[in-house]
Amino acid sequence: TPGIRPLVAGNWKMNGTSASLDEIAAIGDGMKDGLDARVDALLCVPATLLSKAADVLASAPVKAGGQDCHPMEKGAHTGDVSAEMLKDAGAAFVIVGHSERRTDHAETDAIVNAKAQAAWRAGLVAVICIGETHAEREAGRTLEVLSRQLAGSVPSDATHENSVIAYEPVWAIGTGLTPSADDVASAHAHIRAELAGIVGAEAGRMRILYGGSVKPSNAVELMAVANVDGALVGGASLKAADFLGIAEAY
Ligand code: PEP
Repeated sequence: TPGIRPLVAGNWKMNGTSASLDEIAAIGDGMKDGLDARVDALLCVPATLLSKAADVLASAPVKAGGQDCHPMEKGAHTGDVSAEMLKDAGAAFVIVGHSERRTDHAETDAIVNAKAQAAWRAGLVAVICIGETHAEREAGRTLEVLSRQLAGSVPSDATHENSVIAYEPVWAIGTGLTPSADDVASAHAHIRAELAGIVGAEAGRMRILYGGSVKPSNAVELMAVANVDGALVGGASLKAADFLGIAEAY
């Protein structure tokens, strides 16, 4: 989108230990050779790896991020991690409302909304995820589902500085399947228009990422679609060559 700097964001999910720090360093190094002038980069790693990853990336043009946060700052929530803790460990971003969280942990739009506000409270940028299931697409309900998720998940004071939207069709995540360029275009145009009703003029400046089986071989086509301002990448973000191959689409 004219005037919007693209972002390629990796989501490592439940993958990675200290043994992965070399791969993270390779992503940081690879972004330095001019790619950083064309595209912003982010790696969302497991919470256990965050402070080490942030150290490795400190001198690279790649931000570190978390994959989820609890809505509260602290308290009796065994096993949970707050946005403030992610920030303290070196995160600049946090993913909220990923479909795997919505499915595995029954996260509702209201919970995702609260998590986005928690991210801001801690000074993190929220990557707010939405996307239809296969059944919803088959039923012709994709745009309606996206409208409902946006209305529920995106707080009205979201801005292009504190939030990024990620459109991830659930059926395209980790499956090797992707929507057609036309389907991506219609979803992203719809998201931009719906955002205007929630955040006003900020909608024109917010990044809307596409996610779901992005890889180097399809990145050029997907990233060229109108209103696609970057990618949220799962599997292909684990290897530096693939992450950088996707960033090369810009
Ligand atoms: C994701 O989980 O955000 C994702 C897009 O995964 P993949 O790229 O593996 O489909």
